[in-house]
Amino acid sequence: MVTLYEKAYAKLNLTLDVLGKRADGYHDLCSVMQTVSLWDDVEIDVGTGKPWCLKCDAPGVPCDERNLAWKAVKAFFEELNRDPDGLEIRITKRIPSQAGMAGGSADAAAVLRALNRHWGEPLTLEALADLGSRIGSDVPFCVVGGTCMCEGRGELLRRLPDMPDCIFVVCKPEFPISTPALFRKIDSVAIHEHPDNRAMEMALAAGDLEKVAQNVFNVFDPVVSAEHPELDAIKSVMREYGALACQMTGSGSATFAMVDEPLSAVAISGLLKKEYQEVFVCKPV
Ligand code: ATP
Repeated sequence: MVTLYEKAYAKLNLTLDVLGKRADGYHDLCSVMQTVSLWDDVEIDVGTGKPWCLKCDAPGVPCDERNLAWKAVKAFFEELNRDPDGLEIRITKRIPSQAGMAGGSADAAAVLRALNRHWGEPLTLEALADLGSRIGSDVPFCVVGGTCMCEGRGELLRRLPDMPDCIFVVCKPEFPISTPALFRKIDSVAIHEHPDNRAMEMALAAGDLEKVAQNVFNVFDPVVSAEHPELDAIKSVMREYGALACQMTGSGSATFAMVDEPLSAVAISGLLKKEYQEVFVCKPV
């Protein structure tokens, strides 16, 4: 038996645009995504000689074939037509659930990377990301990580220049958001403002953090903020204490501040921690 270890990094959407609904019911998206130094620990015992099992320390996360990490193991061995002779997956969660930070997708991607490495890289990174797209829309990006332009459902990836150094303070309010309901809502309202993804790419190419910050925008943010004024209160604190940009990530409800001064990050996280249990300080990775 051998134990594999892999970090599963969370993502933030620096931009997120919804381009339209497709005939298959999915939406075409265009989003600049960034992995950040907030991660789940994924351990896999391979060759246990026992039936597959999954353990996770977070309540509410399914510990069976519904878990995206389990789906990833299944997809990997089906693709290779191999049998691992029993395995156990253990997940220590730090990424908040239903936050728009791709918690489950990150775990699935970590499983794919760890298994592929252990088996001598039978799949290229592109093939591994492609396999990930069968598990979930955010999995391909989580396989690749870094800074990427993600299009289609999330399966069309293009690497972008690394994000300039900065600090993110992420706050996850407690109210839940249903992603399908949010997509239905965005279909029924006019989107008045879109992110300028071209300008974001140019800002990244120039390594200009202020311009990156100016172009942070998620079309879901105004829709969710209109229903949950709490998000505006969080963003006010972030702005007041020096955030260069603040925005909800993905379909929420986690909201992040981008800052360039460590003291700003300390002030923002200190204030938000008085009200919220899930506040994280992290960096681009
Ligand atoms: P995204 O940003 O991709 O929309 P999210 O932050 O909204 O993700 P997740 O944290 O990935 O949402 O979890 C959504 C649901 O997925 C959870 O309620 C849980 O039931 C299920 N799930 C399946 N596998 C996992 C996993 N490994 N970790 C967390 N949740 C998982």
